[in-house]
Amino acid sequence: MRDLSADAKLMSLNTATLGPKRSLEDAVEGCLRHGIGGISPWRDKIAEAGLPQAVKMIRRAGLTVTGVCRGGMFPAADADGRRLALEDNRKAIDEAAALESRCLVLVVGGLAPGSKDLGDARRQVEDGIAASLDYARSVGVSLAIEPLHPMYAADRACVNTLGQALDICDRLGTGIGVAVDVYHVWWDPELAPQIARAGRDGRLFAYHLCDWMVPTTDLLLDRGMMGDGAIDLPAIRRDMEAAGYDGFCEVEIFSAGRWWPKSIDEILGTMVARGKSCI
Ligand code: ZN
Repeated sequence: MRDLSADAKLMSLNTATLGPKRSLEDAVEGCLRHGIGGISPWRDKIAEAGLPQAVKMIRRAGLTVTGVCRGGMFPAADADGRRLALEDNRKAIDEAAALESRCLVLVVGGLAPGSKDLGDARRQVEDGIAASLDYARSVGVSLAIEPLHPMYAADRACVNTLGQALDICDRLGTGIGVAVDVYHVWWDPELAPQIARAGRDGRLFAYHLCDWMVPTTDLLLDRGMMGDGAIDLPAIRRDMEAAGYDGFCEVEIFSAGRWWPKSIDEILGTMVARGKSCI
C-alpha cells in the first residue's frame, strides 16, 4: 500500500467538504495552502465561477481534477424529462472535458417522479448512460457510476452496490467505470471481491473518503471526518490498491452540523492530518 504519511499530494478535495457557502476559489486556494494535490468540483461551484475561469484557476494552481460532480439523474416521468436529463449530462461531459477531469461522477437518479417501479428506473438509468457514452468517449471523458447506499434508492440513485454498477459497465463496454465512495459501500459483504473485479477490468476511476458516524443523525448531511466513525478505511484502500488503483484519495464530507461551520483551514488541516494517519 502506498505511504501517504509524508504529504497531501495524493489527496483531493471534493468541494462539498467545505459546504455550500464556500466558492471554488476558496477551495483552490485552500488546496494550495495545505498542499492538497487534487480537486473535485461540484457543478454549481463551476457555474458560479464560470467554466473558463474555473479551468484557468485550477490549471494555474496545478491541481489534478479527480472528478466532476455530477452527471446522472436519468429517470424521468416522460420523454421530455428524459431528453432534458440527456442534455444536462452532455453539458456535464463538456465541463469534465474542459477541466481535463479524470472522470465525470454519475449519481444516476432514483425513482421517476410519481413512480414506484424501481425496475423501470434502473432500465432508464442504463438507457441514459448508454445514450451518453458515445459522446463521452468522443471527447475523452470517463464516466464513473457511483453506487449509492440503498437508503437513497428512491430519490438519488437506484444503483446501490458495486456489483450492480459493474454489471452495467460490463453490458456497456469501455469508457465507463465506478467511483468507490466508502460511505456508500463499506457495509457490502461483496465489497472486496467487487473492488477486485473492477480493478481487473480497469474500472476503478475514483475513490471517495469520509466516515460513517454512529449514530448518523442525518441521511445526507452527517458524514464524518476520516477516523471519527466506523469504517475500516485502511482495509478498503488496501483492497483498492491491490486491485490496481493508483489515483487520488478524494475527501467528500457533507457535514452541516459538525464540519461546515468550521473555518476552511480547520477543515483542511484536519483532513490532511487524518489523510496522513487514518486512511
Ligand atoms: Zn462520493
